[in-house]
Amino acid sequence: MFIDVSNLKKSYKSGMVTTNVLKGIDMKLEKGEIGIILGPSGSGKSTLMNILGGIDRGDSGRVAVDGIEINNLNDDKLTDYRRENIGFVFQFYNLVPNLTVEENIEVVSNISKSPLNIDEVLAAVEMQDKKHRFPRELSGGEQQRVSIARAIVKNPKLLLCDEPTGALDYLTSRSILKLLQQVNQKYGTTILMITHNAAIAAMANRVFKLRSGVIAEDTVNQITVPAE
Ligand code: ADP
Ligand code: ADP
Repeated sequence: MFIDVSNLKKSYKSGMVTTNVLKGIDMKLEKGEIGIILGPSGSGKSTLMNILGGIDRGDSGRVAVDGIEINNLNDDKLTDYRRENIGFVFQFYNLVPNLTVEENIEVVSNISKSPLNIDEVLAAVEMQDKKHRFPRELSGGEQQRVSIARAIVKNPKLLLCDEPTGALDYLTSRSILKLLQQVNQKYGTTILMITHNAAIAAMANRVFKLRSGVIAEDTVNQITVPAE
């Protein structure tokens, strides 16, 4: 099992107040699958994703990704795990404004052990003709394509996407989702994506509904590829 989470708990303390965010998460995803996390705002979706990506830590429970027990890693090993295995895509692209498209991708490629070819990645996201542009010269959808290219150039095993279409209109969102499916098929990348949009869930192998700190529903889908 590629992602294997059992009884994961996480709470945040601020002053006297403790918020139990994750109250015993159980979740499994096979290698090469696309999983979607749905759930109301504040239900712990980002917390769960950040723990899987090695940005945050669980308090207890088991979190294994491709056989690596990440809850047992020290800080240095957790950083190595994140650098070597995880690509992130966020709602607001987080591109470096004073670097070109190509340079934004190079930054990641240069520190990766076995990066993909930058031109190949640019072609995969259909941005090769804009590689000398700066982020401000691109539409939102184009900036998200670049941020996907930056996330996949290190050939991550796991691509974590936190509301990747949250700032985009419907048609642009569809093209970004189609692109993520192509990445999944071309590189075999396992993808886990947070979304508020239930329609997007149709493209996933598995849909996890988070409610009150547990997975309230776990559905297996037939994949549907959105039409052009
Ligand atoms: P979602 O992604 O589903 O909107 P989050 O995982 O971002 O939910 O947040 C879940 C809960 O945890 C919220 O109540 C949020 O305020 C709280 N929370 C998240 N991160 C922190 C943090 N670093 N410190 C304190 N509370 C946090
Ligand atoms: P969208 O319809 O996706 O919002 P825009 O209207 O923002 O797209 O942009 C349309 C096209 O114009 C895109 O291909 C983008 O690369 C280009 N473009 C947008 N802003 C600039 C700019 N400041 N300089 C150069 N090209 C730009």
